[in-house]
Amino acid sequence: MDSFDNAILQRKQFFIDSVAKFCDKCGTPYTVDDLNIVQSTGAGTIIHFSCRNCKAKHVASFVGPLGMTQRMPVNIDLDSSEMKRFMSKKEVSKENLLDVYEELKSRKTITV
Ligand SMILES: [Zn+2]
Repeated sequence: MDSFDNAILQRKQFFIDSVAKFCDKCGTPYTVDDLNIVQSTGAGTIIHFSCRNCKAKHVASFVGPLGMTQRMPVNIDLDSSEMKRFMSKKEVSKENLLDVYEELKSRKTITV
C-alpha cells in the first residue's frame, strides 16, 4: 500500500468516526470499504455510505471549517459513480451543498 492509499484510508476512517459509525437501518458497523468520498473541497466533503448488509445508502456532508456534519438517507438507486457524475456538474461549495441536497431530495420523492 502506498502512502496515497494510506492517506485516503485514514481520511475515510476519520469520516466513519466523526459522521457515521453504524448503518442507520440495521446497525452494521461501517468499514472503509463501505464509503466513498464523492466530492472534497476546501469548504466541505460529501461522503457516500453504502451498507454491505442491508444495502441502505446514505449521503453525508462534512463542513470542515465549521465541524458540522449532516446525513440523509438516499432511497434512490444511485451508486457512487453516478453520484460523481451528478456532482461534477458543478463545483460544490459550502453554499450549494444545500442545493445538492434539495435536488437529491426531489429526485428521491420522484423515484420512490
Ligand atoms: Zn444496513
